[in-house]
Amino acid sequence: PARLDLLGHPLDPVSLDAALDLLGTWIQGPRAPHTVVTLNPEFIMQCRDGSDLAARFTAAIRAADLVTADGVGIVWAAKELLHADVPRAPGFDLSAGLMQRHGPNLRVFFLGAKPGVAEIAAQNAREKYGVVVAGVHHGYFDASDDVRVAELVRDSGADLLLTAMGAARQEIFNEYWREVLNVPVMMGVGGVLDVLAG
Ligand code: UDP
Repeated sequence: PARLDLLGHPLDPVSLDAALDLLGTWIQGPRAPHTVVTLNPEFIMQCRDGSDLAARFTAAIRAADLVTADGVGIVWAAKELLHADVPRAPGFDLSAGLMQRHGPNLRVFFLGAKPGVAEIAAQNAREKYGVVVAGVHHGYFDASDDVRVAELVRDSGADLLLTAMGAARQEIFNEYWREVLNVPVMMGVGGVLDVLAG
């Protein structure tokens, strides 16, 4: 389906199932980097504050290969402003759905949340979905450690990178390091690692 423009941001009107199919082709196809953004109203507000961070966040969303509606706020806005029916495809459902579908054929890197959380999230995901844990790292490192973390992810051979470092920072990180990371699916997932950790 054709990409929409919601208040200057791209939005792909794809169902959860269609999004999972598409991400599956990226995971199974020739290794190439793709970024996924799950848009929500807070993102749009954050993009409007005129700061340098806001400009970089806007650019990262624009550069994403897939932009889905994370929740009902975006679904409602698309209906009101564009008269478009956009299904929800939230970050949690995309993460869990990919792990459910691909199980042991999926190498997942869990990046973000407070120290210790990613390890528990990874262990739970391995037990529940049978995925391979490619690596884990917390999300409270300094910008000067960006290169080290990016290389860690690159060397892990992950198929799926779940980046949970808060809105803007996670999307900017994935987009900035896209070519170095070279992970087939890199997705900013907000609180998903906390949820997976229980
Ligand atoms: N987080 C992180 N590093 C940061 C800020 C946040 O790893 O510098 C993690 C935080 O621990 C949580 C997730 O990112 O697991 C989402 O954080 P929050 O809900 O505060 O961000 P939002 O998505 O609301 O911007």
